[in-house]
Amino acid sequence: MDKLLEVKNLNVSYQTYAGEVQSVRGISFDVQKGEAIAIVGESGCGKSVTAKSILRLIKKPGVIKDGSEILYNNENILQFNKKRLSSYRGGEAAIIFQDALASLNPTMTVGKQIVENLVLHNNLSKPQAAEEAVRILEMVGIPNATKRAKQYPHEFSGGMRQRVMIAIAFACKPQLLIADEPTTALDVTIQAQIMDLIKDLQTQLNTAVILITHDLGVVANLAKRVIVMYSGKIVESGNCRDIFYSPKHPYTKALLNAMPRLDLQNKQQLSSIDGSPPDLIAPPIGCAFSPRCDYCMQICLEQSPEYTEFEGAHQAACWLYHKDVPSNIFTEFTEGEIKCQQI
Ligand code: SF4
Repeated sequence: MDKLLEVKNLNVSYQTYAGEVQSVRGISFDVQKGEAIAIVGESGCGKSVTAKSILRLIKKPGVIKDGSEILYNNENILQFNKKRLSSYRGGEAAIIFQDALASLNPTMTVGKQIVENLVLHNNLSKPQAAEEAVRILEMVGIPNATKRAKQYPHEFSGGMRQRVMIAIAFACKPQLLIADEPTTALDVTIQAQIMDLIKDLQTQLNTAVILITHDLGVVANLAKRVIVMYSGKIVESGNCRDIFYSPKHPYTKALLNAMPRLDLQNKQQLSSIDGSPPDLIAPPIGCAFSPRCDYCMQICLEQSPEYTEFEGAHQAACWLYHKDVPSNIFTEFTEGEIKCQQI
């Protein structure tokens, strides 16, 4: 597979009255053409800021720091001029947000919103684009598409509105789609339909997808690879099977154990992760997960862990894999139960 996107040493900060919030702290990853990956982590871990950076949607007081690189087909999008950025955004790369009602233009019919995109990026005439818009609405499963194209966003249900967002995003057959918590605001049954729709379109159009989610339950059906973020850094990455069945980082393991499961007995409680993420105005010098980690050692408080590589491009940033770690601590962690058996 060819590389579509390379994120290198991405640092994003927000200037606030209290100080500089370091939302994303030196992350690097890549996405191949047509590949689906997921970025997971709890709120505030930097996953949505990463998504917005890839589309250059970071607004002041946010800033993408010098030294960061985001290469799309080997072009650095951080150096795109206005014209190039406009053909990239909406044409070659698109985004779906959680809140479709807030993202759609309430004063324009949904058909017109798709037409606008097609005229801008695909050089279609308005009548051609109007015809194409109806076809796209049909493709995303909107019944009576000709009639519905003339309606406004408030006339659609939540699930149908998300389908409209997907129609707009896929209208120009983007090479890259970012789906930022696309199902969080929807009922569970609708969630599954929307994820199936994104997967179908991804396969049909060979679009690379970056799914941003805090919900590990929606990851496995779509993504082949998972990136786990914590406090602005990538703490673990690997293919789905490795992450779900053989997590290496205590945070990933804790996330998996906090997932609801069908096999939980009535009185069994879900695990939770005690404590809260650190203040990103003054992140810890060592491992950011150390205040919440059951296996924390002295070195974890003093030095940020390097990545350890495992089989199959699986890697994790944790001192537990250092050769000098006492074997009792390592054994206690590796033999601890992974309760999730969802995939
Ligand atoms: Fe826990 Fe230390 Fe690993 Fe951080 S580096 S996750 S504190 S064991």
